[in-house]
Amino acid sequence: MKKIELLICAGMATLILSCGPGKQQGYKNDDSDVLDTFKYQTEQFADIKVLRYKIPQFESLKPTQKELIYYLYQAALAGRDILWDQNYKYNLMIRRTLEAVVNTYKGNKNCENYKNFMIYTKKVWVSNGIHHHYSMDKMMPEFPQEYFAELVKNTDKKELPLENGQTVDGLIEFLTPILFDPDVDNKRVNLDAEQDMIKGSANNFYEGVTQKEAEAFYSKIVKKNDPKPVSYGLNSKLVKENGKIVEKTWKVGGLYTQAIEKIVFWLEKAIGVSESAPQKAALEKLVEFYRTGDLKVFDEYCILWTKDTESMVDVVNGFIEVYGDPLGKKGSFESMVSFRDVETTKRVQAICSNAQWFENNSPIDDQYKRKQVKGVTAKAINVVVESGDCSPSTPIGVNLPNADWIRSEYGSKSVSMANIMYSYDEVTKSNGALEEFAYSKQEVAIAKKYSTIADNITTDMHEVIGHGSGQIKDGVGDPSETLKSYASTLEEARADLVALYYIYDKKLIDIGVMPNLKVGRAEYDKYIRNGLLTQLVRLETGKNLEESHMRNRQLICKWVYEKGEPENVIEKKIKNGKTFFVINDYQKLRKLFGQLLKEIQRIKSEGDYEAGKALVEYYGVKVDPSLHKEVKERWKKLNIAPYAAFINPVLVPIMKDGKIVDVKVEYPKDFTQQMLDYAKNYSFLPTINK
Ligand SMILES: [Zn+2]
Repeated sequence: MKKIELLICAGMATLILSCGPGKQQGYKNDDSDVLDTFKYQTEQFADIKVLRYKIPQFESLKPTQKELIYYLYQAALAGRDILWDQNYKYNLMIRRTLEAVVNTYKGNKNCENYKNFMIYTKKVWVSNGIHHHYSMDKMMPEFPQEYFAELVKNTDKKELPLENGQTVDGLIEFLTPILFDPDVDNKRVNLDAEQDMIKGSANNFYEGVTQKEAEAFYSKIVKKNDPKPVSYGLNSKLVKENGKIVEKTWKVGGLYTQAIEKIVFWLEKAIGVSESAPQKAALEKLVEFYRTGDLKVFDEYCILWTKDTESMVDVVNGFIEVYGDPLGKKGSFESMVSFRDVETTKRVQAICSNAQWFENNSPIDDQYKRKQVKGVTAKAINVVVESGDCSPSTPIGVNLPNADWIRSEYGSKSVSMANIMYSYDEVTKSNGALEEFAYSKQEVAIAKKYSTIADNITTDMHEVIGHGSGQIKDGVGDPSETLKSYASTLEEARADLVALYYIYDKKLIDIGVMPNLKVGRAEYDKYIRNGLLTQLVRLETGKNLEESHMRNRQLICKWVYEKGEPENVIEKKIKNGKTFFVINDYQKLRKLFGQLLKEIQRIKSEGDYEAGKALVEYYGVKVDPSLHKEVKERWKKLNIAPYAAFINPVLVPIMKDGKIVDVKVEYPKDFTQQMLDYAKNYSFLPTINK
């Protein structure tokens, strides 16, 4: 819910469905001709591409801020193994076995079987376990089980996770069905409501209890009508022991204590160099939470964390998201260390402070304009390290805390991860998709130069101005009541149109947000290309569009295409049997965006269900099957992996007289090596945790 993911086919910046705040990068770099030689993508295997990210502006931080970041970085990585164990009871045993093979197997490594073994191992690393991080299905190895036995037998025995006198043969026998039998623990999270979801899920949040028993357990302890409920069950495993159901809390002295003690150790060091009183108070509460396991303390921590908006450095560290539990109670460990992107935040503020101007000059009906616009502030950050549920696969933004009552009483922090987005954008520019779907060399050139900034501004305008603009007529209900199932598609369309209308406006140049109108041109090209062509790659053959962002984009593109036809504003061209859409007149296209914005605002303001339904159903739902097929075939040839995994930077402290005086950043290139290094330096948990 609160994590903003870059959806599959990610890497296509145009497909970002984020409805969080912007992902931004100052435009200075984008407008220069200096080539960025940093290698953003290092490899690709199975359905994964491995990416890297830079940490811009790290050098400009104060030494104490860097020291603080270094401690938080250690605290993040210290918790890494917790997620492995949470995801599946035998994940650590499997990982340690695979890593022992990678480190010490002496046999031939040039055969097909070994290559497939390595691909499998890397997939397990990416997913923090044997179940696919996105589909939750068990990943099946593409090498025979006899080969697995051979590998393990020819591996240094001392490296293997042999438990209580277990033999090597015993280990192989134990792991073989777990790895190779498709019927054993085949889904990490099973949401099939027809069956016992706990029994059907391989995760390690419950043991020996049925779904009914777990639900009964929690309904008994939940205080009814509590306006400030704690997040029951968030930090514990529920187990049946001697016929009794008990919670085993993840805390110092409890389950996972070996890793949590390390986290606390580093957090306490961080407290010693905290930047501000609010930050210090929040970190102290977090330590108190890890020591006590008290969920009331966790809420107090969340409030303190939410209130700390001034500090440069920020951290998420804890049991946060509950997607890993079919009952939605148990928090997966994650950590993300970051600091504010100052340049970008300035740009968002420039947009914010002109919110009233944008409203006054909008093409919507005067009666539906807001007299007083309150800008929304959002923060962009640069990520330094991620671990647990945020890594190696990462969100592009987060909006926390999760507890609803805290959000309504104290608000939430909405951050977008600027450097992660930047990395995605860079890879996208060179994955071949642009050359395949853009009509001319000129279109490609403008996109390469301006698409990143165009993307960032569009997202800012969408989030900061778009959703907040306009008003509903007196007496008309909330769109969720009036426009019902069409409300979110129309709302996303409205916000997109505000962004599209202004990104071709000189105003954004005047307020220092963008360098010239080519930014708008790049955005228009991309929006049309995506809405009419490339977004179709994500749709299964034979299906209609259902997802509201996809619907809204096609709605907008088809509408302006049709309305502009008499003047040939957008032209459909066929070259070598391939379909393209080419914009002939950007100014006229902008006018059309304005007209559609005016109509959709009217629909929202008046709650005109029939008109909204007609728009969505006519323009936003159906796809041309032959074009759909063509686009999918063109995409397939590009061989773009749908998911991404990220290599984290490495922080190296510079010591003087036993004290940290500076911190250096290194950018490793080898994913396998990073995984092996992490295993070596941050394996604090036993193989089996009870
Ligand atoms: Zn939105």
